[in-house]
Amino acid sequence: MRRFERKKNIFRNKDALGESYQPESIEERDEEIDSYMDALQPIVDGWEPNNIFIYGNTGVGKTAVTEYLLEVLQEDLDEYDDVDLSIVSLNCKTLNSSYQVAVQLVNTLRPAGGEISSTGYPQQAVFKKLYQELDEIGGTVLLVLDEVDSIGDRDELLYELPRARANGYLEETKVGLIGISNDFKFREQLDPRVQDTLCEREIQFPPYDANELANILESRAAVAIKEDGYDQAVIQLCAALAARDSGSARQALDLLRLAGEIAESNDSERITEAEVEEARAELEQERVEEGMRELTAHGRLSLLAVISKAAKEETPCRTRELYEEYTALCESAGMDTLAQRSVYNHLSDLRMLGILSAKENRSGSRGNYYSYDLDVPFSSAVAAMDDVLTLDREIETIRDIASMNNIG
Ligand code: ADP
Ligand code: MG
Repeated sequence: MRRFERKKNIFRNKDALGESYQPESIEERDEEIDSYMDALQPIVDGWEPNNIFIYGNTGVGKTAVTEYLLEVLQEDLDEYDDVDLSIVSLNCKTLNSSYQVAVQLVNTLRPAGGEISSTGYPQQAVFKKLYQELDEIGGTVLLVLDEVDSIGDRDELLYELPRARANGYLEETKVGLIGISNDFKFREQLDPRVQDTLCEREIQFPPYDANELANILESRAAVAIKEDGYDQAVIQLCAALAARDSGSARQALDLLRLAGEIAESNDSERITEAEVEEARAELEQERVEEGMRELTAHGRLSLLAVISKAAKEETPCRTRELYEEYTALCESAGMDTLAQRSVYNHLSDLRMLGILSAKENRSGSRGNYYSYDLDVPFSSAVAAMDDVLTLDREIETIRDIASMNNIG
């Protein structure tokens, strides 16, 4: 008996919903594209390029628009013999300093075999090697540093590179920097001198609303899914869910893709709204679990305390009461407890991760205090906890209480 069989009921080209797919057209970004083109115009005119800073949350099209526009730019520049543009792109996600970015750039530019090691050189020596490589290229070079916020405050390269020509390190080559950041705070935390140069031109990509997401999804679904495999209601639902949460096209596409996979494994011919809901719950749980993997054992217990309170319908709940709940859980699990302060820090981290929400209450003479609540569905949180903690008995009790209260 054959055990693998090709499934063909839903997708036409599932890759078109994936991470690496480059869309044929960009929807809903006309304004941003106009500003972006305007910022790139000096290259076409043969002048020194602007440095450009692009920012916005993940999934709002920063990378897609950049790739699309730079491709168009290169095509259109074929018209002009006197502009020689090279584009060097680097995703900085795994690089956390200017030093590492510079090493990586040198190694991208050098032919195989000429790579340098990622440790052991003084920073300035690596920068010099980079300038040499860039100067070899000649013409105009656009350096695209995607997810550049990973380098944190070790941002020296962003200061020095735009000044390399003025400082006599570059003679043949004009360099422009495009920095792309998922984190707006990155810009504020940059050295003011870096802000002045890197952010010469700034373009913000706002989150998408439900209509915009529906249009993006629609044009992608037409490529990815069979004509009868989806309908407007499914597109609208994916768009609405993603708009309400993040405004991210990535999230909307992930929803549609997973819903399609679920429909496929159900052997149905068309994605239903129920399957979108199922996909949402699954993705949400994945996100919560991802956040939880980062937590220490006591971070998880602090969260379990909130979950336990939620099961009893006692959230939003003050930190002091959460600490009591936490202590009880530790006792029941035979674990030592942390001091109150540390648990408060864990709660605040959980809020940063988007797993908890917090409200500040003013209480006159006794000062302000916070009360916390779950910011993810109860069922996702419990299921994720079940996967990462070995507190079966405690979690079962919480589940029992929740079901008595009709929560879940
Ligand atoms: P960011 O770089 O801002 O995190 P991406 O550019 O990677 O976001 O976009 C996430 C996904 O959504 C990609 O698959 C991308 O092709 C798609 N996408 C985002 N914006 C648009 C758009 N305006 N039109 C078409 N597809 C888009
Ligand atoms: Mg990106």
